[in-house]
Amino acid sequence: MDQVAKNLAEVLERIADAASAAGRDPSEVTLVGVTKYVGAAPAAELAKAGCRYLGENRPQQLWDKADDPAFASLDVDWHMIGHLQRNKVPRTVALSSLIHSVDSERLLAAIDKAAAELGKRQPVLLEVNCSGDSSKHGFTADALKEFVPKLDEFPTVDVLGLMTIASGDRQLSTAADNFRELRTLRDELQQVAPQGVELWELSMGMSGDFEIAIAEGATLVRVGSALWQGVDLPPMG
Ligand SMILES: *Cc1c(COP(=O)(O)O)cnc(C)c1O
Repeated sequence: MDQVAKNLAEVLERIADAASAAGRDPSEVTLVGVTKYVGAAPAAELAKAGCRYLGENRPQQLWDKADDPAFASLDVDWHMIGHLQRNKVPRTVALSSLIHSVDSERLLAAIDKAAAELGKRQPVLLEVNCSGDSSKHGFTADALKEFVPKLDEFPTVDVLGLMTIASGDRQLSTAADNFRELRTLRDELQQVAPQGVELWELSMGMSGDFEIAIAEGATLVRVGSALWQGVDLPPMG
């Protein structure tokens, strides 16, 4: 088995173990394989090894990979996980099955409009800045309590849940606090969300903390570096 497939099997096993340890069904947790460190060929290897959901944090890189011939015969779903500028919305909506990183009302409005123009519905998550780190994007908890009741003003997006990036200081206790906070906030928002907005998904956890995130209720984990360890990567571009 090549290294990418080996890494994928290992990460999937760790996800299953973490879910079982938390008394959860492993099928409740979906792996998003983050391909931002690699070019199209290794990313396609990951997809061939069985990782269907691929995440990119820069729109241009998502567009380039999605259009790359390496993916022509592969069935993959692209997830936008990083900051999205409004002028990059139409192309990103055309190519993404889930946008994790909606961090403002104006961005959600732009996505709603682009989806309507394309005649598709666009699943999204709302990004929450749990760590209070001002360099990070995302809604505050208070802003979301005001905003979520108004989500029916955006009829072409499906807001499936919340996303966060744990505090950058890498103290795992802090990550657990951030993840618990996201789940608690989600539970509160479910009480005020419009009919039909279930906010089921929690996108949280990366290579360094996805097991902690699963213990706290993650339904989507975004894992990059753990999948590329020891992989011989050709130069990008
Ligand atoms: C890069 C990135 C990840 C993956 O991080 P790793 O630590 O490499 O697993 C997850 N989420 C977002 C938003 C990212 O930009």
